Amino acid sequence: MCGVFGVWGVPEASRITYLGLHGLQHRGQESAGIVTARGDQLYSFKRMGRVADVFNESALDALPGTVAIGHVRYSTQGMSIVKNAQPFAVEFAGTSLAIAHNGNLTNAGELRAELEAAGSLFHTTMDTEVFVHLLARAKGTLVDRLQKVLPRVRGAYSLLILTPDQMVAVRDPHGFRPLIVGRAPSGGPVFASESSALRLVEAVAEREVEPGEIVRVDADGETSHRVGASLPQPHQCIFEHIYFARPDSQIFGARVYEVRKAIGRRLAREEPVADADVVIPVPDSGTAAALGYAQEAGVPYEMGLIRSHYAGRTFIEPSSSIRHFGVKLKLSPVEHVIRDRVVVVVDDSIVRGTTSRKIVRMLREAGAKAVHMRIACPPTKNSCFYGIDTPTTAELIASTHSVDAIADFLDADSLAYLSIDGLHDSVTGRPGFCDACFTGNYPVPVPQVRFEGRLTERD
Ligand code: AMP
Repeated sequence: MCGVFGVWGVPEASRITYLGLHGLQHRGQESAGIVTARGDQLYSFKRMGRVADVFNESALDALPGTVAIGHVRYSTQGMSIVKNAQPFAVEFAGTSLAIAHNGNLTNAGELRAELEAAGSLFHTTMDTEVFVHLLARAKGTLVDRLQKVLPRVRGAYSLLILTPDQMVAVRDPHGFRPLIVGRAPSGGPVFASESSALRLVEAVAEREVEPGEIVRVDADGETSHRVGASLPQPHQCIFEHIYFARPDSQIFGARVYEVRKAIGRRLAREEPVADADVVIPVPDSGTAAALGYAQEAGVPYEMGLIRSHYAGRTFIEPSSSIRHFGVKLKLSPVEHVIRDRVVVVVDDSIVRGTTSRKIVRMLREAGAKAVHMRIACPPTKNSCFYGIDTPTTAELIASTHSVDAIADFLDADSLAYLSIDGLHDSVTGRPGFCDACFTGNYPVPVPQVRFEGRLTERD
């Protein structure tokens, strides 16, 4: 779970990248970084924290040039420490190179062990660093090197690479994570994980970087190259549509907002609630799906829960602790909308079930007559190994409990999920999705030893 952004040939590239990263902030809040190029030098600044907290005027002024890449990080692999913040910049074959990565590699452990045995010294615990060592050992131009080493790398990667005289954007052959190319008003190309990053910098989306494509930019223009042969169809992450991408983005050839509404409409047809008085979303993740559900069901849609956007990661609690403090910080009920009503509450997904349980309790305390929970995807039973942060299967409630048992745990009057067919029918755009978190059909093999959990730290 990360976001990448890059611009070529625009004045004030660091400021444009700063704004672009702001439009990707939902993809990662742990660290942010920008690397620019001027002359034969790269300039880097990265810190822990959100984009607006990491950068100030003087930090951006110290990043000169008309070319930049940036990254926001939510660690799925490698520890959450500043050493692991990206873009990752190194001295490389007599020049400098910076890399920004969204995704997770599935064979990083094997590749790292092999590289270390051959003498590579790793500086971070990130799988991203594997790319750098592989590239350093290959020969030829950067594109030659990428074409040689990428077939050895398995898993998910949307990459931006910057050297003083070129920028390269790469998407893995499965196309797990999104990556688009847009155009800045100055005519220069802009790369971004999602189109939500483009509006603020007044760039226009042009196309997706294709699965298995390398786009190279230099002073002479843009060229396109392949990483190996095309696959019959991609494995785009379906969970991007359900939860992760911003609803105003267009990814994988479809509008996220419309996909979420279609999911809600389908859910209403599959799992109606006979005597519902009101449909409410869990904001913001369930908002669009709940709207679709309410429209299809012909039941009034209300904002029965309000989200506070100002709670940070840690907050001081009175020593006489407040019950369910965490969820109260984030969500608060609009009591008169809920009192004495049969409430359908729609959320995007259930992971551990702890949030949903607290929401049901909050709605009951606000006086709901009944609480029916509807979930905009099938039960999440399997961990993701391609870049979404999911806990171990032991912690995924749907992996160890039936739907009825989860309903009991949540204390909901009823609980129902969207079917897998309902999900696939609702997702439009380019066909070919990875749905391993629901079905266990992993398109890229995951080492058996790690099936029981998420990727483990390697140091
Ligand atoms: P819980 O069931 O308490 O673990 O949390 C479920 C909520 O977390 C859902 O309503 C989602 O909005 C949100 N969510 C789903 N997937 C993720 C994820 N990979 N990382 C963070 N939050 C998530």
